[in-house]
Amino acid sequence: MRYPLWLLLVLALGNGLMSACQSNGNNHNPNNKANQDAKFEAFKARFIDALWAENPEWAAGVGYYRYADRVSLPDEATRQRGLVFAQQYLDSLAAFDGTLSVPNQTDRLMMRNQLEANIWYTNEFRSYEWDPSNYNVANTLNTLLEADYAPLPERLAHINQRLTQTTAYYAAAKANLRQPTQEHTELGILQNEGALSVFDMLTDSIKKAPLAADLRQGYMSRVDSSRAAVKNYIAHLQKILADGKKQGADKAFRSFRIGKDLFSRKFAYDIVSDYSAEQMFNKALEHKRDLHEKMKKISHEIWAKHMGKMPKPDDDLEMIKLLIDKISEKHVQPNNFVAAIRQQIPELSRFITEHQLIYIDPTKPLEVRETPLFMRGVAGASISSPGPYDKNAPTFYNVTPLDGYTPQKAESYLREYNHYILQILNIHEAILGHYTQLVYSNNSPSLIKAILGNGAMIEGWAVYGERMMLEQGYGNNEPEMWLMYYKWNLRSTCNTILDYGIHVLNYSEKQVNDLLVREAFQQSAEAGEKWRRATLSQVQLCSYFSGFREIYDLRESLRQQQGEAFNLKAFHEQFLSYGSAPVKYIKQLMKETP
Ligand code: ZN
Ligand code: ZN
Repeated sequence: MRYPLWLLLVLALGNGLMSACQSNGNNHNPNNKANQDAKFEAFKARFIDALWAENPEWAAGVGYYRYADRVSLPDEATRQRGLVFAQQYLDSLAAFDGTLSVPNQTDRLMMRNQLEANIWYTNEFRSYEWDPSNYNVANTLNTLLEADYAPLPERLAHINQRLTQTTAYYAAAKANLRQPTQEHTELGILQNEGALSVFDMLTDSIKKAPLAADLRQGYMSRVDSSRAAVKNYIAHLQKILADGKKQGADKAFRSFRIGKDLFSRKFAYDIVSDYSAEQMFNKALEHKRDLHEKMKKISHEIWAKHMGKMPKPDDDLEMIKLLIDKISEKHVQPNNFVAAIRQQIPELSRFITEHQLIYIDPTKPLEVRETPLFMRGVAGASISSPGPYDKNAPTFYNVTPLDGYTPQKAESYLREYNHYILQILNIHEAILGHYTQLVYSNNSPSLIKAILGNGAMIEGWAVYGERMMLEQGYGNNEPEMWLMYYKWNLRSTCNTILDYGIHVLNYSEKQVNDLLVREAFQQSAEAGEKWRRATLSQVQLCSYFSGFREIYDLRESLRQQQGEAFNLKAFHEQFLSYGSAPVKYIKQLMKETP
């Protein structure tokens, strides 16, 4: 048992701070403030190391390998230890008061939210009981196999150490499950079947590594027993599935819909908003109505220009849909897809500079590259950012070329990412969306913010960036650009509506399909994928619109407050200077800082 040692350390630290605070009541003493900050920095460093010791898999995922050979078993003892960890650190955090510097105040709030969330996830959310896809040993094995943090024999030794726990790991997993959902059981089977391929890669590596014969043999037998444990888990899940279907799926399985109470609480912990989930849902509905009004207006204006004498349908949504289909025909050629994106990045930079929208550090360039083969198959475009332990690595904008596509598939993809949407996508992913935010975030040197970064702030910023660029005249206020932007914006708006709708209001698959196809102008196939994603996740789909709504409203309220003195560039730079903190905290800090 290792934790009593740090537990004692934490207790000692907490007590020491309590007495320091009580004996010195002068919060405005600058020495006191510097002193508090120094103590807090040391406290954070201890917190992070203890966090990684408790969560070695999470640590490896962000590039921290000190505990790579340890497995955190998903059993009751680990959960209890996690609860003690959270409570002890919450107590210690409470000893730091408002005299901290602004960045440390934000870190403190983020740590508190994370620890409170951990307790809630363990005691109330309890997905370890109903989500069999929580359990998979392959991700970390794969990370250790691919990451170059140590020579291969050393990494294989870590992996071997982990493999000694695989049987115990899946035994704990099986013991946790209590009436899982059918959807997560199916996902658990699928993903653990995928895990088997990692053992094949591992076998190859063990064969080619310079190892003594007996060591090699030991490693091989650990791989075999681990593979057997995974197969046994898959068989266990398949039996749950088969038995459940015999009994009747409705009775046998838990619903994937988590209901209002859990959804609202998860929303509060994950999004960290001034609004409740229900309020945000209503804001999304209102925003959808507003977008439809704007789209109607534009469509009436440009109908004849694009559709000639074709009669306008009476139904406005149908009219918009026909027009969108027509305008989508304008797109780049398949073999020109990557080059077109590459060309746009400097244009976006130029626009930012000319319009004085934000300063971007020129020493942190963005490289557009073809998506590496091992990453292909998910999204068409993505940002690869340096992790918190590797800040000086370059940022890549990965774009998957369309050469593997059939002409038909390429055409449908390019209609979706047409001339207009492609530009909006580049704003979102690169400038001034994710890439720009990242450069700022890395300049705010807080490991806490890098590790506990708030998804709603990060996605919300990218979504805000799209709107702001168009408002500033990017795309020359072409009505076609605005129409396409509104369609794009409907996607994140409807993500919030359907997420809340499915989990809280029992939306059916047909309702979701109608929402996306009829009201958000998407393809049926896309709607089907979204339904699946929403049955497997909760709240994450709300992050895009929630972050956008709060950033946009914050800007408008500051603009009103400051009148003539309001400066857009200054607003952007100050907003991003806090790092990837929740918008709610940034709001407080921006209103406090003159
Ligand atoms: Zn075409
Ligand atoms: Zn994004």
